[in-house]
Amino acid sequence: MKVLKFGGTSMANADTVKRVADIVKSESVNRFIVVSAPGKRDGRDTKVTDMLYALYDYRRTHDDCSAAFQPIADRFAEIADRLGLYKIKGFDLDGELEKIKYDVDGGADKDYTASRGEYLSAYMLAHLLNRPFVDAKDIIRFNADGNFDEKTTFELCGKILDAKSGAVIPGFYGSMPSGAIKTFSRGGSDVTGAIIAGAVGAKLYENWTDVDGFLSGDPKVVENPRVIDVITYRELRELSYMGAAVLHPESIFPVRKRDIPIRIRNTFNPQAKGTLIVPTEQLLGGKIKREELPLTGIAGKKDFLSVQIEKSMMNNEKGFARKVLSVLEQFDLSLEHMPSGIDTLSVVIDKHDVKREQIDGMLKSLKESVNPDRMEIIDNIALIAVVGHGMNRRKGMMSAITGALFDADVNIRMIDQGSSELNIIIAVENCDYEKAIRALHGLDL
Ligand code: ASP
Repeated sequence: MKVLKFGGTSMANADTVKRVADIVKSESVNRFIVVSAPGKRDGRDTKVTDMLYALYDYRRTHDDCSAAFQPIADRFAEIADRLGLYKIKGFDLDGELEKIKYDVDGGADKDYTASRGEYLSAYMLAHLLNRPFVDAKDIIRFNADGNFDEKTTFELCGKILDAKSGAVIPGFYGSMPSGAIKTFSRGGSDVTGAIIAGAVGAKLYENWTDVDGFLSGDPKVVENPRVIDVITYRELRELSYMGAAVLHPESIFPVRKRDIPIRIRNTFNPQAKGTLIVPTEQLLGGKIKREELPLTGIAGKKDFLSVQIEKSMMNNEKGFARKVLSVLEQFDLSLEHMPSGIDTLSVVIDKHDVKREQIDGMLKSLKESVNPDRMEIIDNIALIAVVGHGMNRRKGMMSAITGALFDADVNIRMIDQGSSELNIIIAVENCDYEKAIRALHGLDL
C-alpha cells in the first residue's frame, strides 16, 4: 500500500491533472491519493488557495461575492471541461460551486473558504479516475483546542478508508469536533498525505511535486546541485530547518514515527528516481559505515543575531544559563543555538518575525538579570549547516571546511558542531553567505 500526494503545480491545469491520472494508473498497487488545490500555472499566476483567501476578504466588505468568486469557478470549470468531466454521470461541478458560493455569501469562515480548493481538486480527480472521493472532514480530526487529534483520525481512517480502497482525498484540512472545517498551516497537504500514510500503515509515502528531489544545495546560489538519492529524516530536518524546503516540515512527523519512508517524485519527470527519505537505522542498518558516507547537503539562512555574554568565573555561577534562557522566554524569543566558552555564552536568535522591541527588552533584561562584564551583539549573521551522517566520524572534515572558506576569503564568526553527529554549523556575515555556500558546496567530501 502506498499513499501518493500531488502538490499544487501537479494539479494546476488540465494537462498537469492528466499527467497525475497517468501516474496513478501506471501501477496497479493499491494507493490512496491526496491532492492540493490548483497552484500556479506560470510565474505570474495566482494559486487557487490565495484566490480563496482573497475571496474571504472580499466577502467581508461586500454582500455578494460574485466578482471574487467567478475567476475561481472559471479555473475549475476550464479544467473540468478540458478533461471531459462534464460527460461523466454524477459529476456536478456546477452544483458544488453553487453550494460554495451560497456558503461564502452566507458568511462562511476563513478556513472553510480556503479549504474549497483542495475539496474541488479531489472531487474532480476522483471522477477522472473513477475512484471513490472521501472528504477530509470525515477522517481528519482536530480536538477542541485546535490540535491535530491523531487517535480519532486513525480510528476514522480505519473505519472509512477500509471500505473506500484507493480513494482520492483533499489535503490541507480536517474538521473540529463541532464539524467546522479547520485547515493546517500553508502547504499543509503534505501533512494530510503523511497522516493518511501513517493511518493506513503505508509502505511508502510518495510526495509528487515539481522538482526531481531534494537538492544538495540551493539552486539559486550554487550551480548544478545534485539530487540527493537517499537522505535520513534527521538530515532532512536539519536541511529543511535551514530553509531547504521541499516538504512541509510538520509532514515528516506522522510518517517518521512509524518508520515509513517518503519518496519525493517529480510529476513533470516521472522517470527520475527522486529522493528517498528513510529512518537513520534503514540507512545505517546495511553495510555502510558512517565514516564512509558522503556529505549529504548544505543549506543556510541569513539574518540571525548573536548576543555574546561575557562574565568572569561564569562557570562557577549556578543558574547562569537558566537566567539567560528565562529572559529569552520572557520576551517570547526562541533560541536557535547556544555556543559557549569558559566565561562566555552566546545566544543565537533568528531575526525573522522578531520585533526590535523584543531584542531591546531582552538586552536590557539580560543586563539586570546576569550582570555581565561585557555583552557584544553580532548582527546580520548567516548560519550554514553542512549535513551528513559521516560528519563527526571522518577525519579532515573540519579542516576541509575551514580551508575552503579561507580560500574563498570568508571569515568564520562561529562554529557549532553540536552533538547531533550529523552536522556542523558555521556562522558567517550575511554578506559572505553566497560565497561561503558555493565554497562549501564545491567540496568533494
Ligand atoms: N493549498 C494549500 C496552500 O497553498 C495547501 C497545499 O497546497 O499544501 O498552502
